[in-house]
This record gives sequence, C-alpha cells and structure tokens, in this order.
Amino acid sequence: VEARPDRETARGESPPVSVHPEIDLLIISAGELVTVAGGTARPLTGAALDRPAVIPNGAVAVAAGQVADVGTTDAVLSRVQTGPNTRVIDAAGRAVIPGFVDAHTHLVFAGSREDEFAMRLQGATYQEIAARGGGIMSTVRATRQATREELVAAGLRRLDELLLVGTTTVEIKSGYGLTVEDEEKQLRAVRELSHRHPIDIVPTFMGAHEIPPEYRSKREDYIRLIIEEMLPRAAAGGEGRLAWFCDVFTEKGVFTVEESRQILLAGRAHGLVPKVHADELSPLGGSELAAEVGAISADHLLHASDEGLRRMAQRGTVAVCLPGTAFCLMNVPYANARRMVELGCAVAIASDFNPGSCPTYSMPFIITLACMQMKLTPSEALAAATINAAHAIGMAGRVGSIEVGKQADLVILDAPNHRQIPYRMGTGLVYTVIKNGRVVVEERRLVRR
Ligand SMILES: [Zn+2]
Repeated sequence: VEARPDRETARGESPPVSVHPEIDLLIISAGELVTVAGGTARPLTGAALDRPAVIPNGAVAVAAGQVADVGTTDAVLSRVQTGPNTRVIDAAGRAVIPGFVDAHTHLVFAGSREDEFAMRLQGATYQEIAARGGGIMSTVRATRQATREELVAAGLRRLDELLLVGTTTVEIKSGYGLTVEDEEKQLRAVRELSHRHPIDIVPTFMGAHEIPPEYRSKREDYIRLIIEEMLPRAAAGGEGRLAWFCDVFTEKGVFTVEESRQILLAGRAHGLVPKVHADELSPLGGSELAAEVGAISADHLLHASDEGLRRMAQRGTVAVCLPGTAFCLMNVPYANARRMVELGCAVAIASDFNPGSCPTYSMPFIITLACMQMKLTPSEALAAATINAAHAIGMAGRVGSIEVGKQADLVILDAPNHRQIPYRMGTGLVYTVIKNGRVVVEERRLVRR
C-alpha cells in the first residue's frame, strides 16, 4: 500500500460516515477500546492530549479495510450485519488501541554499528568514533555499497519486526546515500517496500543528513548538488513522487540555519513539505526555522527555546520528541515535553530508528521512555504515538485513531488497559495486529502473507 499523505483531509474534513455494510471483521469484548478519537481535524493539544476516548467493553466493526462502527459491544452487535464471512475476534477483556504511527525513522540502511556502541560505553567520544571509521559515515559507506535489492530485503525483515511491536504506519528517510544516485537508490528501495509490505510507508528525502567527506572543503557545492540534482529527482513524478517531505539536519557542524532554509525552501518549491531535525545538540534555532518555513514537524528539540516552541504552536508545526535517541546518547537532556504541552504544541513521539543513535523501533519502549524521562502520562504518550504522530506525517485523515471511515489499523494488547504499555516496560504486550482490516499478527506471531 503506497501511502499518500492527505494534508487536506488531515487539517479539514472528518472521515465519511458509514452506512453499515456487511462486516468482514468484528472485534468484541475489549476490556477497553481506546479510540483516541477527536484529533483528526487538529492534533490533540493541552488537556485534550490526556483524554483519549475510552469505551469500556468496546467493539470495532470493520468492512472493506475500514472502521465501520465503534461502540460498546452491545451497541455494535445491535447495529451491524454479520454474515457467513464475518470473522469475530473475542478480545476477552484485552485492550484495543490504534496501530502505532512511527513518524521518524531511518529504516533503510546497510550495516550495523554494535562495535561503536561498545566503544561509547567505554567513554569514546563522537569524534574518536568517527576517527576510527565509525559514526554516520560508516552507515553511508555500507549503504552506498549495497544494491537496492539488498536494501529492500533488509527493509522487509525490519518492517515485519515493526508489525510485531504494533507499528502500522512508518515514515522512512533517505540520507545514507549522500550522492545523487545513492539517495535515489534509497528512495526507490522505500517505494518498493511500500508496494511489498502491508505497513503504510511515508517517504522523506534527507540528502541534507550530513556533508559527505568528499565535500567537506566545498560545502556550498554539496548544497548546490542537493538543490539542483537530488531534490528534482526526489520530487519528480507529481502525485507518484519518490518523497513527500524534505528534511534537514540543522545542527552545529552539519547544516547552518541559513543553509537549511535554502534547502527547505527549494524543496518546498518542488512540492516537498519541510521537516527539520532541530535543536538536538545545541540551541541553534531549528525550531524557529521550522515554524518560519511552515514545516509539518520539527523533531528532536532537546534544546528548543520557548520562543521556538511558541512559534511552532502558532504555526501548527508538530513537535516530534525522540526519547530513544536521548536514552542511547546517554549524556544528553531529554526534550522538555511538559513545557511543549504547556505552550500549546502538538506533541508527538517517534523512534528515530537508525543504526547509530537509536537501534530500536519499539514504540511500546519509546512510550515507556516518554513517560519515565519526559513525564508524559501514559494516555498522553499513547496519543503522541498515534494521532499526533499521524499529523506529523500528513496521515491523520486516514490513520492514528479508531473512527468510522478510517483505516482499520488496530492493536490488541495482552493487557486490560493502555496504561500497562509504559508500565510493563520492555515486554512484548502486542498480541494481535490488524492492518487495513487484515489480521497480520496473531498471538504475537506474524501471519505469513
Ligand atoms: Zn533522525
């Protein structure tokens, strides 16, 4: 299924009302059905973030891959028409939640960096690791050497693992190629994955992830290469374009605010909506820039200023926090999510899955970190990992909540309520996963396609 972010729907209309067609799938007797409803037109902010709509003894009816009815089990059973082909799943008191939306990953890459992980534990600095051939450039080297087919094969395995932990929509960035051909190879691998795997995939072009070594002494040439050659390729094809967003790593030693602005505006001129890796290691002004250029999200934000956050709240730029990365980097602060909620930002959380600074894609674990380290409540963290995350990638019109007319992307937890997700840290409580109305994980096992 190729994702097609629908910003119009996400910002405006509510989903169409169902006419109760014959039901393909019926889930009954959910201990609680957490719909996270009410955030489709606009992300959940302020006190609303902490009030996910919960239906005790809930049920969901699915027809043609979409949610056809939602309510208490009694109410839904009295309304829907079942037939011989209706499959009924008795949740037996387990909680049902929307599938997780992972709004920030670098999932397509080659190689592995566990050696560097061990070095970091012994106190090696980023510079020392880079000097010994590690860091992002080691992934760039491996990804350049890999064929598209190899990237796809590794990607398919990883996407299966994502399904097992309940992720049903994922954003994937390029940025480990850093040449015209290798960036396009990565984006084409992402496209192939979206055709071959049930997870909805939203593609982002990130040629501005790093300045490759061959351009360190002539960085303006690399920026010109991005703007004149990479961006047009990523944006070619109109509706069927290879990327929907253009992301930049705005950071000391990577791209300055001015260089980032140039790249993001050039991307926007090609129809790619801006995104920013902002204020991760220093307060450089990435969040202010994100608001200025109308970015759909600004991500990381460990050092974001109040002024930057205020402008993001005003402009509607979603604040995507990545607590897994702060956890892995060990000696950095966490993003101030409480302050973001206070200032009216739409807060989302994502994994930042990548082979260096966050090798996990587990959204349940990210929710645990969001609660323990950023002090989100369990309910806020769930909304941040579903509907608000969907807003960060232009998918809120289709996914992120359990509402009539939306895609039936559902997770049945092996737990009676959603508050157990962060509480039972590091355990696999994802029991059943339904993607577009089809059971893809059953009793913790992949259903083979
Ligand atoms: Zn990232």
